[in-house]
Amino acid sequence: MPTPRDRPPTNALLRSAAERSIRYLEDVPGRRVTPDPEAVAALSRLDEPLPAGPRDPGETLALLDEVGSPATVTSTGGRYFGFVVGGALPATVAANWLAAAWDQNAGAVALAPGCAALEGVALRWVLDVLGLPAGSGVGFVTGATAANLCGLAAARHALLERRGWDVEARGLFGAPEITVVVGDEVHVSLLKGLGLLGLGRERVVRVPTDAQGRMRADALPPLSDSTVLCLQAGNVDTGAFDPAPELCAAAREAGTWVHVDGAFGLWARVSPDRSRLAPGFEEADSWCLDAHKWLNVPQDCGIAICREPEHLRRAMVVSAGYLVLGKEREPYSFTPEMSRRARGVEVWAALRSLGRSGVEELVDRCCRHATRFAEGLSAAGFEVLNDVVLNQVLVSFGEPETTRRVIATLQADGTCWCGGTTWHGRTAMRISVSSWATTDEDVEVSLEAMLRAAGSVEA
Ligand SMILES: *Cc1c(COP(=O)(O)O)cnc(C)c1O
Repeated sequence: MPTPRDRPPTNALLRSAAERSIRYLEDVPGRRVTPDPEAVAALSRLDEPLPAGPRDPGETLALLDEVGSPATVTSTGGRYFGFVVGGALPATVAANWLAAAWDQNAGAVALAPGCAALEGVALRWVLDVLGLPAGSGVGFVTGATAANLCGLAAARHALLERRGWDVEARGLFGAPEITVVVGDEVHVSLLKGLGLLGLGRERVVRVPTDAQGRMRADALPPLSDSTVLCLQAGNVDTGAFDPAPELCAAAREAGTWVHVDGAFGLWARVSPDRSRLAPGFEEADSWCLDAHKWLNVPQDCGIAICREPEHLRRAMVVSAGYLVLGKEREPYSFTPEMSRRARGVEVWAALRSLGRSGVEELVDRCCRHATRFAEGLSAAGFEVLNDVVLNQVLVSFGEPETTRRVIATLQADGTCWCGGTTWHGRTAMRISVSSWATTDEDVEVSLEAMLRAAGSVEA
């Protein structure tokens, strides 16, 4: 058992962890993106019985590094294009290490005044850089799934409060009805949130979308002040944005709550070049945002934002005799969690180290790389299925089976990693460029690997 006398061994342990981490990160640019199958097989070494008693922490760390490090997917490197996954910026990894040493419970001001202050600054900067209303209520949550849940919980609270119904106290049994309107291309995490809130994953009105997955404003059903309209800023496959100006205007007239799933796409608003894609979203009532995707902080970090802080706070707040609620913003009053790590510190570190122009450059560079992928694949005769306006590319290599085989060949090759999807009935490979670490050279090397994979499947 560690005792205070063990500080020197603790120092050695942490130095070793730092050295091992640095070595890992130095190897990243040259690593395969998927781990070697032998490294994955070697994970069976971890399958040992629970030790009967204390073990040397240094030996535990060594095992973690020897077995764990080789079995990682190099999603923090520059050639990972699966799902929408950002690589952590060096400043945020460093902040994460220091904050881990602090071991703060960032849920409450009394537990972590420094973290609460850092989060206060970070949330102000996030609203500023995205052009969202200053003074909005913000919760630092695990990701966009939780952020969608929070926005929808705030909406549920506000719409039912208007009807004189306290949903947090009374639940939904016997409550006035709420109608939830979503686009046909709604992200599944939003539906999950509806299920968790008792609003029903399938009890939604779906609005048809266009070829890029944008909600069709001309197909909007009647709205009312008991409706939640869920918009999307950045379709997970195409990167397309719902036409927020028309949709928000219709919603405002009807007294409808507008929630925006902007997990990665809202970050487009930092770039003067790209913000023209995402006008009008500032008119919404709540927003869901990821920081671990396009802001490139370590996993898990999402941000829930609500125009009227009281709506989010009242949906989340609890009280008990032993809990202090000061006058300041209490972080746990804006999130489903009470105790949690200080994830806002990494958001602060990202924004402070990049500055406005750095975030802008990160977004623009990823979009430029996506355009280059699309050009290179089209030039080689392959069909790009989406308008490449952001960081997402969908490409078909021909028949569905051919595309599937190209994806499998590419993944096995290990130069880069892309996943697949079905887009409006077509089988496609997805390329999502979401990391600061991707260089021009990474793009060229990855493009070659894609064309090589396509060539070998054709042959
Ligand atoms: C990734 C994503 C989500 C879910 O985000 P998590 O951080 O994985 O919980 C929700 N919506 C969209 C549009 C996404 O891209």
